[in-house]
Parts: sequence; structure tokens; C-alpha cells
Amino acid sequence: MKAVLQPLGYEAVGTPQLADLVLINTCSVREKAESKMSSFAEDLKTLKRDKPEIKIGVTGCVAQQEKEAVLRDLPFVDLVIGPDNIDEIPEILESLEQSSGPWVRAEFDDSDTRVWKTTTRVLNPGPTAYINVMKGCDHFCSYCIVPYTRGREKSRPIADVVEDVKQLTSRGVREVTFLGQNINTFGKRAGESLHELFERVHEIPELKRIRFTTSHPGDLKDELIECFAKLPKLCSQFHLPAQSGSNRVLRGMRRFYTREQYLERVRALRQARPDMALSTDIIVGFPGESDDDFLETLDLVDNVQYENAYSFLYSPRPGTQAATRPCTLTESVKVDRLMTLQTRLREQSLRIHKSFVNRWVEILLEGPSKKDPTKWTGRISQNTPVHVPISKQHRLGEIVKVWVESATLTHLKGSWEAVSLGVSESCA
Ligand code: SAH
Ligand code: SF4
Repeated sequence: MKAVLQPLGYEAVGTPQLADLVLINTCSVREKAESKMSSFAEDLKTLKRDKPEIKIGVTGCVAQQEKEAVLRDLPFVDLVIGPDNIDEIPEILESLEQSSGPWVRAEFDDSDTRVWKTTTRVLNPGPTAYINVMKGCDHFCSYCIVPYTRGREKSRPIADVVEDVKQLTSRGVREVTFLGQNINTFGKRAGESLHELFERVHEIPELKRIRFTTSHPGDLKDELIECFAKLPKLCSQFHLPAQSGSNRVLRGMRRFYTREQYLERVRALRQARPDMALSTDIIVGFPGESDDDFLETLDLVDNVQYENAYSFLYSPRPGTQAATRPCTLTESVKVDRLMTLQTRLREQSLRIHKSFVNRWVEILLEGPSKKDPTKWTGRISQNTPVHVPISKQHRLGEIVKVWVESATLTHLKGSWEAVSLGVSESCA
């Protein structure tokens, strides 16, 4: 949206009070994310009262899902724009100049072509960039709202994505992360595939690292796993959302794989790339989840040992199949389970991060640390961030070797010398 607005002369400002246009970008995957929008409502109402010329817009999946209902709940809103209508923002703003609105544009293209034509626009790229390669989803997991807000799966042609990567690397990008809701089925309508995309971009000399997310375990084919043995630029990181460790719950979620199949895919990934770090998503408290089901989830987690994990309380979403199922679990049982799981996941992350201490690691220098202006942040191939003192001998975008002095739950502390060995062995 920034890239769409910049040619019109817009630039980001620090607070809504200074803005001519406020866009609230929303997510509807869980109710908690959705209700964040309402928490801004009172402030924005006051803002509009004090400064009536300000334009207020709601964008993202809540706009897509609720459309006119957003205007009913938030009558001071001027524009409601779905994720597929972002390119129309300039036109809608022009219409607002002529008549006061409000304007609602929230349609996605659900034609049969299943091809998505777009280009990646990044204003001032750093060494890393995200590239959307597909949108929508064909799966309809019983808890998930994505297929309803984003429509059927559509992929970009490989040639277009390769062109984006070339453009970005010519502007200094060294690492790309390809994004899609179910990236394993990328290109399926056009007879193209993710492993083909990886092989093509792997040949671009300036590109040093490739990441991607997110993978449905049921669609994870051998061809993709084999890429980890063949393509060294592919980072040793794999996000493989398990959702649950219980076959009964997985069936209720309509995930079409079993815990045994999931664990077999994990073994295959680690065989192809022994230092692979795995991450996952897990939902706790799905309707009907018993104590035994939850123990199976804990057991799966122990079995895999995740470097990172996102865990959520189940949130019923309107229109999804699971939302009609009665939920008999009390809030305190659900919260207890989530706490137990998160404690276990934190222990695993810390243990894995500590395994890098007193070792040299390679990181891609990404930019200044957000918390400490004397440090840079970079990531190891496994995706763990490393903070290292800013060095005049290096530039952002370089891949460098640093020594890991210590580890926390969230990051590693790096130095340019192997200080903890007691020798001053430099590897700069
Ligand atoms: N396409 C991805 C998931 C995208 S949504 C996949 O299939 O794995 C990101 C995560 O949000 C999901 O993996 C799931 O763990 C969580 N999520 C989605 N719907 C949810 C719901 N109704 N309640 C709680 N968590 C949910
Ligand atoms: Fe949602 Fe992912 Fe399932 Fe698609 S595959 S319905 S995005 S959870």
C-alpha cells in the first residue's frame, strides 16, 4: 500500500494525528486479530470529529469479509478495501475528492484462470525481501477463514516471479522469502511447481539465500524435499504447521494427513538437510480435543523438537465448518493446555539456540538491530536472529562468519572474534 500511495505524494508519518489518510490493515484469521480493529475505533472517531478532512480506511481480510458491515459499525470510515483491490486505492481516493463516499471495494477475482498477474513493489529494499507468489487456498480446513476471505488458490507464473527476483537483486536484495498460504501447490494449474521455481532463481548469481512459507504437510512432495539436498541457497529452515498431534483432531480439522505421515515428512526433511530447523503452528482447544489428544500433541512436539512455533487457542470463525461444533472445554482448561504447550516449546527453542553457542555461524547482515543501535541483526540459515556489534569492515547484505557467545529464547549474541575460547581468533 505504501508503494501504491507513494507516487501520489503520500509518505508515512509517526501518528494518526499528523496523517491525511489513515489505513487500518486487518487480519481475520483469529478473532483476537479482528478485534484489534475495534480497539482503534474510539480514537479514530475522535480523530475524525476533530479533523473532518482526514480520510479513514479499513483494508485487509476484515474489510473483505465484512464489507458494508464495517461501515455500519464504524460510520466514520471513508473507504473499505479488500486485499485484491489495493491497486485501486488511487482511483478510490480520487473519487473521494469528488464525492464524500464512503467507498467499498472488496471483490476477489474468482474466475477460472487461476493465474495471478502482479509485480512485487518494494519502496526501499534492504538485503531481504518478501515476494508473494500465490494467494488464496483450495483446502477448506474446518477451522480456517482464509478460503472465504482470499478465495481459490491462484499462482503467479514462474517467469514473472523470476523477473521480480532479478529486479530486487539488482537493487541490493540478497535473500528472498516466497510467500503463499499453501506454497507446496504453487503453480499446480499451470503445470509449474515450487521446486522448478527454486531451480530457476537459484541460478541468479546475486541471490544468496532462498526461504519460503507456508507448507501444508499433506502436500509436501519428495521433489521439494530433494531440493534441500541439491540447492545450497535454500536455507535450512522449514515451517511445517502440524496444528495437532492427534489423528482424531486432525480428521476433525480436515487436514488430510496423520501424525505418522507428518513425522515421516520430518524425517525425510532431516535426511535431506541434517541441520534443518523446523517451525510449526499448533491450535489448542479445537472442539472435542480431549486430554489424550492434547498429550499426543505434546508427544509430537517432543518428537520433532522445534526451533520456533506459533501456538494459538482455537478461535471459532464465522462461516467455517468447525464454528458450528459445540465446544465443551472450559476456558481455563484451554488456557492451561496452551501454557503447558508454550512452556515446552520455549524449552525446545532455547535448547536449540544454545546448541549454536561457542560456534562460528554464517549470517546475512540485514540491518540495524531494533533494540540496540550499536548492533546489526543478521540471521543464520536456520532463521534464528543474531545480534552483532556494527563493524566498519562489513556492509549490510554481506554474508559473514560470526562467533556465537550466548543464546536466548529469541536470538543469539554474536561477536567478530572467538572470545569465549580464550583465544582471539578472528574470522572477519
Ligand atoms: N496455510 C497455513 C496456515 C495459515 S493461517 C497452513 O495451512 O498451515 C496461520 C495459522 O493460524 C494456522 O496455521 C493456524 O495454526 C492458525 N489458525 C487459523 N485459523 C485459526 C482458528 N480459527 N483458530 C486458531 N488458530 C487458527
Ligand atoms: Fe487455511 Fe492453511 Fe487450511 Fe488453507 S491450508 S484452509 S490457509 S489452514
